[in-house]
Amino acid sequence: MEEKVEKQTLLVALGGNALIRKGEQGTVEQQFKNLSVPIRQIARLSQVYKIIITHGNGPQVGNLLLQQEGCDAVPKLPLEILVAQTQGQIGYMIESTLDNQLMDLGIHYTPLVSLISYVVVDENDPAFSDPSKPIGPVYRRKKDAPSGYPIKKTAKGYRRVVVSPKPVTIVEKREIKKLIDQNFIVICCGGGGIPVIREGRAFFGVDAVIDKDLASAKLAEEVGVDIFLIATDVPGVALNYGKADQQFLRSMALKEAEQYLREGQFPSGSMGPKIEAAMQFVSHSGKRAVITSIEEIQPAVEGKAGSEIRR
Ligand code: ADP
Ligand code: MG
Repeated sequence: MEEKVEKQTLLVALGGNALIRKGEQGTVEQQFKNLSVPIRQIARLSQVYKIIITHGNGPQVGNLLLQQEGCDAVPKLPLEILVAQTQGQIGYMIESTLDNQLMDLGIHYTPLVSLISYVVVDENDPAFSDPSKPIGPVYRRKKDAPSGYPIKKTAKGYRRVVVSPKPVTIVEKREIKKLIDQNFIVICCGGGGIPVIREGRAFFGVDAVIDKDLASAKLAEEVGVDIFLIATDVPGVALNYGKADQQFLRSMALKEAEQYLREGQFPSGSMGPKIEAAMQFVSHSGKRAVITSIEEIQPAVEGKAGSEIRR
């Protein structure tokens, strides 16, 4: 009799740019079209792996903020509610695209679910007094950005920044594990999760956006995944990024990653949290973490693309 081998679990963290590419306005049509590239590969990989999908919301949550700030007719919503909204909107887009791609592959019986997810943060996190997470549109010149908000220069241009506390624990980790064990593809921790503070047994939302790479690493650790893959808009991790002598790395030991991080090779708000997330996962689990492009998710899982962080 054939022995049934349990599938390994793969967590794919999709960057906000899986939906909105550089220079695009970000219409719904563009977002659906862009999404089909990573999702087609994930649909194929679901034949071999149990799948968890997490996603960013930087562009989308910033756009929602701008939309509501342009309207005084109805009450304004805090960031925690806007994060919840993006979990709904992006969760829907990922789920429906995945459903179509699975059907195209002739796979009709894979159960999918997108989950509203809370992530606990520490109310004493020093990040509450230092806005650092870029959201919304990218402005070429500082003077083009709306006034009245903290703005920072990023590798892409000028962007509004919001506070971004560290994830402490994923509230729904047990539920997610159960769903994975039952072969559901789970979409969760969208936009880093809805940031909440715990008071006794109750949770209260806070005005912040958690980094989705750090939240995904926490989830990967708490659920116990085998491969943690971060998909973004560059082929992997580079030294001297953006300079004439830029050099992409295929693999990096934890010690090297730590040293490059100290040297300032990976800025906060972009590559920094991805490296920290990968390092955290690898040092806790001893398993594989890979940073790759949206286009090369499948080859990266197979060890043929991207940058791998190892012990
Ligand atoms: P995501 O939406 O996928 O989280 P981010 O913009 O947060 O994307 O992070 C990816 C970006 O990190 C790249 O587009 C690149 O501009 C920037 N980056 C900064 N330093 C590096 C580096 N050393 N290697 C590669 N990319 C880097
Ligand atoms: Mg990011």
